[in-house]
Amino acid sequence: MSVVGGGHAVVVGGGVVGLACAHALLARGCKVTLLDRAQPGAGCSWGNAGWIVPSFSMPLAAPGQIGRAMRSLLDKDGPLHLEMSALPRLLPWLWQFNTHCNSDDYRAGAQALVRLNARTMQCFDELTARGVQFEEHRRGVLFLCLDPRELQGMHRKLQQLAEWGGSPVEMLSLAAVRELEPAVTDAVCGALIIRGERHVRPDSLTAGLLASIRAAGADVRSNVSVLDWKVRDGRIVAAQTSEGEIGGDHFVVATGVHSRTLVKNLMGNLPLHGGRGYSITYESNGPGLRNAVDLVEAGVVCSPFNNGWRIAGLMDLSTADAQSPPPPPAARVASLRRAAQSYLRADASAFAAGFEWSGQRPLTSDGLPVIGRMPKIANGYLATGHGMLGVTMAPVTAELIAEQITTGRANAAASAFVPERFGA
Ligand SMILES: Cc1cc2nc3c(=O)[nH]c(=O)nc-3n(C[C@H](O)[C@H](O)[C@H](O)COP(=O)(O)OP(=O)(O)OC[C@H]3O[C@@H](n4cnc5c(N)ncnc54)[C@H](O)[C@@H]3O)c2cc1C
Repeated sequence: MSVVGGGHAVVVGGGVVGLACAHALLARGCKVTLLDRAQPGAGCSWGNAGWIVPSFSMPLAAPGQIGRAMRSLLDKDGPLHLEMSALPRLLPWLWQFNTHCNSDDYRAGAQALVRLNARTMQCFDELTARGVQFEEHRRGVLFLCLDPRELQGMHRKLQQLAEWGGSPVEMLSLAAVRELEPAVTDAVCGALIIRGERHVRPDSLTAGLLASIRAAGADVRSNVSVLDWKVRDGRIVAAQTSEGEIGGDHFVVATGVHSRTLVKNLMGNLPLHGGRGYSITYESNGPGLRNAVDLVEAGVVCSPFNNGWRIAGLMDLSTADAQSPPPPPAARVASLRRAAQSYLRADASAFAAGFEWSGQRPLTSDGLPVIGRMPKIANGYLATGHGMLGVTMAPVTAELIAEQITTGRANAAASAFVPERFGA
């Protein structure tokens, strides 16, 4: 029988998604144990750009995406690269991804994401109201373009999302861009702004959530790896871990790109692949960047923080389950620097040095997250596959998971994201 209305929830994975789930479960009266095979917050949730962008509610699988990807492969600074060693595992995923790159699936996916993200900002405000402390900036996001055709294309895309319920987008004159962001170079031909958007310093968000769940009584165990599951009569009885069995009433898998391996014995093949991205973090804000800026053609974004700034982006389809990823390749880090220098003016030293990082975005083959109860497992839940928007969607995902666990009912907002769409 399902235990609803509380009980003991074991959350596996201490990235932004798992931490947010733990927070929401505690708020609904559950006892929570959180397990992470390393340190919470140290995975993909560490060095990302931290954008909270409901207006970017679009699936990665989109019409024309494969063509764009092929062109990018030919460009050494292109946003997308493909690791040859990943090809055997990647091909079935790519095949499925390609079947979703059509306008009907894109529209349905984008509309579902827009509906899901309608509560995103409110969820972040609720975190703050409940005392979770993190660094947050509310200056909107700016899209800088070098090519007028890209500017028009991006404008159309964002307007379409706004019509489906996203935030309004405004075209800015060059004079207005320079006033907002004096560091832009003369190569920039124009910009768009979405004023309602925000960004956070991602490690401050995971640290804030971690402190908050600890204060609320969660049992947080670092360096505990879940290896498999003990299942009886369609229910998980215990997680089999590097520290022995850990029992509970409900089990939430929020292990990012590693979820594919972890749920194989529970629900079969989850089409999840790693999209490796990179960032460079600087301790001082050399270009004097004021706003979060998207360098549209480059597939790179920049985020100013209280102490420093970060260049982040690119997408390499690489081996998904790398336990300890190799250091970022020098060529890709150089691409990030070159991209930033094309759009932002600063002394060369502003782009030198910096902390180089990489993380694996969990990418599903239909470009949508996986949120909800696993098929055939009465008390097992998945919260993963958030791709490029895991920070944005962590709090809304957590609400849906906590609601389903404590009431026994799935919210209609989660219907497009159910795990059973991948069969089992
Ligand atoms: C360059 C870049 C920029 C990005 N920018 C943004 C952005 O601006 N806005 C946005 O919304 N998103 C952004 N993202 C995406 C975002 O970072 C991810 O979607 C998000 O961090 C995924 O969080 P997660 O909790 O699912 O996974 P992770 O943060 O990877 O956490 C998974 C955790 O599970 C643990 N784990 C794994 N296996 C096990 C196991 N067997 N047992 C126990 N624990 C386990 C890991 O140690 C890890 O701590 C960006 C990503 C990249 C790479």
